[in-house]
Amino acid sequence: MRIVLLGSPGAGKGTQAELLADRLGLIHISTGDILRENVEKGTELGLRVKKFMDKGKLVPDDLVVDIVAQRLKKEGKRGFVLDGFPRNLAQARALNEVLQKLDLRLDIVLYLALKEDEILKRLSARLFCPNCGANYNAISSPPEIPGRCDNCGDRLEKREDDQPQTIRRRLKVYEAETAPLIGYYKTSGLLKQVPAGGKVAEVQQQILSRLPRPVRAREGDCGG
Ligand code: ADP
Ligand code: ZN
Repeated sequence: MRIVLLGSPGAGKGTQAELLADRLGLIHISTGDILRENVEKGTELGLRVKKFMDKGKLVPDDLVVDIVAQRLKKEGKRGFVLDGFPRNLAQARALNEVLQKLDLRLDIVLYLALKEDEILKRLSARLFCPNCGANYNAISSPPEIPGRCDNCGDRLEKREDDQPQTIRRRLKVYEAETAPLIGYYKTSGLLKQVPAGGKVAEVQQQILSRLPRPVRAREGDCGG
């Protein structure tokens, strides 16, 4: 199964991608996670992209396309969930080329749809653990002890780009650059829309119910 997750910041792509990858044995490719990891480790790539990310801008296409192409070349045959990529038309075209070279095709593009007031609410409540990377939301999925990671007990933080000013910028970038991909994938017949306003488990069910049939059958067999 080869899946692209599309949706605004805060729509829940990361959470849903992880669940899907676990469930279906796919690799999860999150360009946001990979870039943040590089920033934290202070790699050459990290140093180049930090200023874009902190401002809520997209990092240059060639950098992310490279990351994704390498990963797909290595492990793409296993099936994958792309999360946060492609993020504009140029990236979508680059993805097509990469897949064509590998003789792979996308099965489905899931568009996680969420209203703007809900997006803002979610983003401003978002927290993460700088130690183990776990994600939380002070409203919808709070940690057991406020401000502390359930896994490792570390103090939770707000992402640099989840500050109000930057959130507004990211939403603008999303509308201008990423939202056009909805039409693009509709035209190619791959798009399925999923209402993303519910609880994590509900959204996951909605996603599973939209996947091509063989996967759903397998799902039912293992009682999951
Ligand atoms: P969100 O979906 O919540 O905005 P991500 O973790 O996907 O967060 O991305 C965080 C930041 O990383 C983006 O604002 C952008 O600067 C950068 N980024 C991630 N993926 C891409 C991409 N495909 N192209 C360009 N920049 C990206
Ligand atoms: Zn932790």
